[in-house]
Amino acid sequence: MLKLLIITVIVVYLLRFFWHLMYPRLPDPPKPVEMKACEYCGILAREDKGVMQRDRFFCTSDHAKRFFL
Ligand SMILES: [Zn+2]
Repeated sequence: MLKLLIITVIVVYLLRFFWHLMYPRLPDPPKPVEMKACEYCGILAREDKGVMQRDRFFCTSDHAKRFFL
């Protein structure tokens, strides 16, 4: 009886092991990055790559400077 239990535990353990090998956890999908239009030139730029100044969005700091000149 004890043998059967041990074999069952081993089989379950092996099945789980192979299951993880065949279906590895997928990495979290990357967050969608919001695209915003530059107030100066109108080009769409990634929000994290752009510059935020006085509640306005710009694709580069150069455009932010030019906009407020
Ligand atoms: Zn721009």
